[in-house]
Amino acid sequence: MTRNGTRDSLDQDGSTPAMSRRVALGRMVALPLVAALPAGLAACNRGPKCDDTTGLSPEDIKVRKEVAVYEEKSSDVTRYCKDCLQYTPAGDNACGGCKVVKGPINPEGTCKLFVAKPS
Ligand code: SF4
Repeated sequence: MTRNGTRDSLDQDGSTPAMSRRVALGRMVALPLVAALPAGLAACNRGPKCDDTTGLSPEDIKVRKEVAVYEEKSSDVTRYCKDCLQYTPAGDNACGGCKVVKGPINPEGTCKLFVAKPS
């Protein structure tokens, strides 16, 4: 029944036309999101994982975390370790090093001590 008291015709699946539109609209919205999910997850996982501080002294870890405030993934597109004067690369998709922050350094990371390479 509709709000004005008349009967809706039913589709083959027993749903009303309004419900079919709702279901179809929901699928139209959901399908592109589901299709984009793997690409989005791949983008999040891009690059090496460079957060293992095994072997560093407590002092080096403190400098890394509290002085430099190293971040594994930079949220500032103008401040990536790979673009920093202190960065020492180690090849494609590998953790590099840093002249001032000890331990593995993600080329996509950053810290407060960032110094842009001269262009
Ligand atoms: S100084 Fe900071 S931003 Fe520069 S390479 Fe080292 S960790 Fe990355």
